[in-house]
Amino acid sequence: MAKNPLHCSFCGRSRDEVKILIAGQEGHICENCVEHAREIIEQELTIKDEKANASFKLSVKKPMEIKKFLDEYAIGQEEAKKVLAVAVYNHYKRLQHKTADLNAGNEIEIEKSNIIMVGETGTGKTLLAKSIARMLNVPFAIVDATVFTEAGYVGEDVESILTRLLQVCNYDVAAAERGIVYIDEIDKIARKGDNPSITRDVSGEGVQQGMLKLLEGTDVLVPPQGGRKHPEQKLIKINTQNILFICGGAFDGIDKIIARRVQTNTIGFNVDKEQQDSMKKNLLRYVNATDLKQFGLIPELLGRLPVVTHLDPLDAATLRAILTEPKNALVKQYTKLFELEGIRLVIEEDVLDFMVEKAMEYKLGARGLRSICENILIDAMYELPSSQETQFVLDLEYTKRKFDKSKLSMLKVA
Ligand code: ADP
Repeated sequence: MAKNPLHCSFCGRSRDEVKILIAGQEGHICENCVEHAREIIEQELTIKDEKANASFKLSVKKPMEIKKFLDEYAIGQEEAKKVLAVAVYNHYKRLQHKTADLNAGNEIEIEKSNIIMVGETGTGKTLLAKSIARMLNVPFAIVDATVFTEAGYVGEDVESILTRLLQVCNYDVAAAERGIVYIDEIDKIARKGDNPSITRDVSGEGVQQGMLKLLEGTDVLVPPQGGRKHPEQKLIKINTQNILFICGGAFDGIDKIIARRVQTNTIGFNVDKEQQDSMKKNLLRYVNATDLKQFGLIPELLGRLPVVTHLDPLDAATLRAILTEPKNALVKQYTKLFELEGIRLVIEEDVLDFMVEKAMEYKLGARGLRSICENILIDAMYELPSSQETQFVLDLEYTKRKFDKSKLSMLKVA
């Protein structure tokens, strides 16, 4: 019998030596070579995945080092930094020792310490959470609590909080399971008063209830594209046990709740006038879970957010330091921008004082400093790139002129 001329173009086996021979445009492949090729592809993809995972390799530092790192990015907020540093350190220490403990049959389980930060808007809550994630090299997602509603109502399911985390690490589940989520505006989902109302509180207490299981650490089924879960969608399972949740909110009006509690506690004690005044100045310093409960967070949720800390309002000295000191301070950023154009930017000291004065006067906070700079420098940034100048000196007279002409000068709060 003549040998079948057909053969595998990869291994050379003839038609008689193999079970299947698949024809391509210019050759053939047998089932053995298909299988071999599949193995090579699998191996290659795993190596790629490992490389991708390595980009989220956890690097845990000691609390003091964490605080030092935060100091490079955020000014002041000493207590919040310290509390965050310890909580984050313990969280990841717990994570690293967990497997060892389990193997040794150790019964003590260190619980997760999710964090809640109370402080006016623009005082650095997001900045601190973001900086911590950057330092630890873990996936970090910011979500806004106001977009969620109880399941079944218009809005997003709370599970899509985890979708954001998955998205930032390219759906690498293992990396997401060690990530940090910052939930902003947690105060906006406070219970709407104790009165039973005719409309259900679907964006308040309902969302808080929904968040419970996320925060405590269980398997959660997450819609990969976020939004609302629907039956046809394939869900991704994530275990939230090692995800650190940091919540933040301004809690407008909580100072009155704190004042009432602090006052009741100090009645009968010898607290002198001076002490009382200093207490009143920054009541947030005394915030605790009882106040947050009274504000409208449910006790079960507070139980899962055991670390409570506060951020101080920003005073003029802090704003002034924010302009120049952080690693990516505004002044450094503008200087760099001009430098890229071949122009040396010189900002006079009294200009910086003026910017701070306006930010305070217009109650714009740290976020406002950027708009102030932008409004003052816009003309220079428009004109200078087309000029031959090699230096630009920003003095007070020029600054005042530009500021008065800007839209910002109309924003003055009465
Ligand atoms: P919050 O989350 O409290 O509303 P952010 O952290 O988003 O406020 O702060 C807004 C911006 O203001 C930050 O990006 C940062 O540039 C600046 N900022 C606020 N607080 C500080 C601070 N303590 N130190 C340095 N920059 C700050």
